[in-house]
Amino acid sequence: MLELKNVTKVYQTKKKKEVKALEDIDYSFQNKGFYAILGKSGSGKTTLLNLIAGLDKPSSGEIQFMGKSFKRFKGKDFDAYRNTCVGFVFQEFNLFENLNVYKNVALALELQGKQAEEQEIEEVLNRVGISDLMYRNINELSGGQKQRVAIARAIIKNPRIIIADEPTGSLDQEIAIEIFEVLKELSKEYLVILVTHNEEYAIKYAEHILRLSEGRQVEKPEGIEEKAEETLDFEYKKGLSVLSSLKMGFTNLKMSIVRLVLCIFLMVFSFTLLGFCISLSFYSKIDIVYDSFVKSNFLDPITISCFEKNKETWYPKTENLDVIIEKLKNECGMEYRLLHNRVIYEHHYIDSDVSSNDGIHMWNPSGVIEADRNYLKDLNFSIMTGAFPEADDEVLITEYYYQTFVRYGFQNKEITLEPNEVTKENLIGKTIYFRTYNAESTKPFKISGILDTGMDVEYFENLENSEKITLSVLHDSNLITRIKNGSMHSAIYTKNGALKATLNYQNQSSTLIGSTIKSKKDVHYLMNYLNEESTATSKYELRFGIHDQMDSILKNLNEIQSISGAIGGVLMCFSIFLLFSLINFTIEAKKKEMGILRALGAKGRNIFFIYSSEGIYIGGFSLLLSYIGCSVVLFLMNQYIQKNEGILVSVYHYHFLTYFLLFLIAIISVIIAILLPVYKVMRKSPAEAIRIEIK
Ligand code: ADP
Ligand code: MG
Repeated sequence: MLELKNVTKVYQTKKKKEVKALEDIDYSFQNKGFYAILGKSGSGKTTLLNLIAGLDKPSSGEIQFMGKSFKRFKGKDFDAYRNTCVGFVFQEFNLFENLNVYKNVALALELQGKQAEEQEIEEVLNRVGISDLMYRNINELSGGQKQRVAIARAIIKNPRIIIADEPTGSLDQEIAIEIFEVLKELSKEYLVILVTHNEEYAIKYAEHILRLSEGRQVEKPEGIEEKAEETLDFEYKKGLSVLSSLKMGFTNLKMSIVRLVLCIFLMVFSFTLLGFCISLSFYSKIDIVYDSFVKSNFLDPITISCFEKNKETWYPKTENLDVIIEKLKNECGMEYRLLHNRVIYEHHYIDSDVSSNDGIHMWNPSGVIEADRNYLKDLNFSIMTGAFPEADDEVLITEYYYQTFVRYGFQNKEITLEPNEVTKENLIGKTIYFRTYNAESTKPFKISGILDTGMDVEYFENLENSEKITLSVLHDSNLITRIKNGSMHSAIYTKNGALKATLNYQNQSSTLIGSTIKSKKDVHYLMNYLNEESTATSKYELRFGIHDQMDSILKNLNEIQSISGAIGGVLMCFSIFLLFSLINFTIEAKKKEMGILRALGAKGRNIFFIYSSEGIYIGGFSLLLSYIGCSVVLFLMNQYIQKNEGILVSVYHYHFLTYFLLFLIAIISVIIAILLPVYKVMRKSPAEAIRIEIK
């Protein structure tokens, strides 16, 4: 079954010296039987076994298994060979102390991707005479019992060859005999290759003896078998699943708790900062603006301000606004009008001190809009009392303006109405006065009606009654400031062309006004349009409460974003390094265990996952915590902005991509940290790893 031809093994020591461990070995093993390899310590016995087990490669010569040369084995063939054909028994047992008897035996099957059955394990333990110890811990067993467990582990997968390296070396005489008996019994069924230096027993039990002396064969066999027919056909077992590998790594987790906590803390901190930095870049102005429209029932005033540049300074633009209005109408289907805000009003309140910001009262109307019935109809504005202006000196006031009169009374040159005397009806026909910016004298305009602009005055009740400054009071007061400073609600409406006719008023304005935004698409469209229209010397800005505020908030947040990104990046490097050293440390300590697992038939892939599981757990756990951390930071950030700016909506959102990118960052960090140490150890041959003594 197994042929060795001219097998030589030369080791290269660290000091570049060559050690000839085996020289020119020729031997042939049958399918069954008890073979003993005898020789003094250092004669090359272990080396030979490692070569037979495929744990190491000969320097020259050839090994054939069932007619197929090891030279033609690929990596996965060796894995399959060890996994299915070879059962390994070591001198120092090499059982896993943290698993009990049952699990140690079951491991051999799990490494084949099989689920162990209790009955199967009991049978095998029975064969080696320890079925009563099934659930014992390893450290509760004697040496002989441990070796029986090791033998059970080797035969449970029904291999072809049982390789035992001085299995009785650490045992007493009587116990050794028992082990020999067990192996002898097994040799009726399997090829048993046993290394020993106990000549007496070897001669007593073994059918064939191969003697080694300083790496050489003492007697050459008469002639080794001719090359056998190649009958080898590997069964590639699935092997340990990734999940089981990770699980196994988990039971193996042994590390300094201080390091672990520090590492996780650092990782969480850096991932959180990075996540925060990433989420800030998903900030969407349009969403926030639109959400805030919705939150305030579309009361936010919308104006477009126009500026032109003159010697590095931006001035309100006064020309060509008609062109923009025309374009907005044709290209976006949005109706805009000029708000002539250079018209000066006389005061028409009894109480002239109504300039404070909160509460429903105007200092003055924000401007005059020339309108026609169709325009008002388009906006869904309706006349609550009175009629549309028929003459050039007639105006509509808004409900908002009317509410101010209700609160503070109405006064002009002719009459005074106390607050309780003000009604919609008796304001009709009253005169209000205004003049243009430079003009000396004032002109009278008659109130022809009151316009309902859809503003819900009750909405602001909070503002009137509240003593405490709450978020909604803050928001309402912001909103009212904007409404006062330029909106449909705070304007006065005249007939088309009336201002020119009565005040000789030219187009002198810095704002366009309209309020046809109804959907997110509108905001999007308008913003894009204004961006496109803006040039180096003239610009158009969409303005509403939230929008103005956002610009100043953003200025600070850009800084916060860069800082958190930078700190997060640096900390990430630190945490990668820490994780790296942590994993390196534990892997160094477990090198031997890796070699044993290899010898038991674990694939390279299994080993990789078992030993990188530590990093994967730490990375995964840190990632989860940083998801939470990131959400909390964003939540607090939103709270802070809302409280400070009186904004009702969340400025930053939990974006799926944030979590995804964070996930990628975590994966990359873990890979960087685990790849090198795991690779370093995996590169070593398993034989070398097994030889490492655990101190
Ligand atoms: P045995 O098992 O018979 O005691 P070994 O096969 O372990 O002997 O070793 C045979 C020879 O090879 C010894 O001289 C030993 O020092 C040497 N040797 C074993 N492994 C290595 C290695 N990794 N590097 C260098 N020399 C080695
Ligand atoms: Mg040895």
